[in-house]
Amino acid sequence: MSQLTTNTQQSTVEERRSACPGLFRMAKARDGAICRVKLTFGDLSADQARQIADAAHRFGNGAIEITNRANLQVRGVRPETENALIATLLKAGLGPLTDRGDDVRNVMVSPVAGADSDRVDVRPLATRLLEALQTNFPYQSLSPKFSILIDGGESVATVDHPHDLWLSPIDPQNSAPRFAFGIAGVPPTRADDQSGLGTVTPGEALNLITAILDVFIEWNQRHPEASRLRHMIADTGAEYLVEQLEQRIGFPVRSDGLVNWRRAMPRSNGHLGISPEGNGSNCFVGAMPPLGRLDPVLLRLLAELADKHSNGKFRLTPWQSVLLPEVSIDNAPSTLADLEALGLSANPPHPLATMISCAGSAGCGSALAATQADGLKLAALLHGKPIVPQIHMSGCSKSCASPSAKPVTLVAIAPGHYDIFLQATNGPSRFGKLLAANVTIEEAAELIGLKSGSGGPLYA
Ligand code: SF4
Repeated sequence: MSQLTTNTQQSTVEERRSACPGLFRMAKARDGAICRVKLTFGDLSADQARQIADAAHRFGNGAIEITNRANLQVRGVRPETENALIATLLKAGLGPLTDRGDDVRNVMVSPVAGADSDRVDVRPLATRLLEALQTNFPYQSLSPKFSILIDGGESVATVDHPHDLWLSPIDPQNSAPRFAFGIAGVPPTRADDQSGLGTVTPGEALNLITAILDVFIEWNQRHPEASRLRHMIADTGAEYLVEQLEQRIGFPVRSDGLVNWRRAMPRSNGHLGISPEGNGSNCFVGAMPPLGRLDPVLLRLLAELADKHSNGKFRLTPWQSVLLPEVSIDNAPSTLADLEALGLSANPPHPLATMISCAGSAGCGSALAATQADGLKLAALLHGKPIVPQIHMSGCSKSCASPSAKPVTLVAIAPGHYDIFLQATNGPSRFGKLLAANVTIEEAAELIGLKSGSGGPLYA
């Protein structure tokens, strides 16, 4: 590789990093810096939650966001407190395995992975992958946005967020199922979804993933401006990757039956309310804080609940909600009542049980409206309607709060004014089909209420 290429690649890597917050590199925003705390599979202990709450109070403005990758963000960090915040988070055991390993801690699993006796437990594989990503120097050059989904076929799962690479068991009730894998997309659930590229056994899965990363990194050295696997596939075609893989790993990955394989759809809103864990004696209890946001007081109270009901453990989810594991069946109703008493919602007709929003103009210089305040206003107007679809409030078309279209999206165009989109299978925009342009929150509430009350599908 020439020195020019090396320098170009290094500066491109640094540029792409600076756009994304991390633990050591805080991104500037209107309300101060953002520190992103990457949690392994969304896991958080009650003690760690209390330490984050204290740190957000002392070093930030108190706003704590749950992200769509089940991580946390501490907002409003002042420049003079950045180092103290980092030291506190490292002391709490929330740092990466290596100094340069923070950005690549992007391995997603279901928040109920490992707790379903009928499903393969993918956490050991995901843990080994996370270690490999953090400890191998070449992998540390991957974009902070580069993400890998290790799906175990669970009934509670997000399979609509596109990932650079996904694996999903073809027969999840088999104790050693073959995994289908695919690039730049999601496990197929609908007839017209793109099929997987091939299959591997559980024992071959880590080799396959690292081989894919190696192929991408080699290609990326010749194309330093690119950052995601979709860029490579657009350049080389998928067949190039399959050929490279079979040469490197020494076993075939193509599978004829894959073209018709579809992953079972997860349960709708399975992350909310009470769900049995695999062994039958315990439950998960899940609920959503308003707009996926916490503050130090609420986080400390959640830590108390985790101590009381779930062995000091809780889990954050990609729906930007909270899940308490290991709750005894007898305690589940009172645990849910405790969560609701703290202002969390678990009943999907309630608009705040599913509504998500980016920071909006309270925290982001690109925002065209106060999405957080407008979202709460919209939720109040819709409260009591028998059916309320999931709503995404976005301060601009960048859609930071959601990598995929939601049933209803409000995209700000001016303070208090939004374009409304309904999710659609064929666009035309990334949010779906335009329902109405330039509407106020009151008009949006009326339109959404009418559309929901019609009983017709919200999918256009
Ligand atoms: S979607 Fe737009 S307004 Fe919202 S946080 Fe992202 S860049 Fe800012």
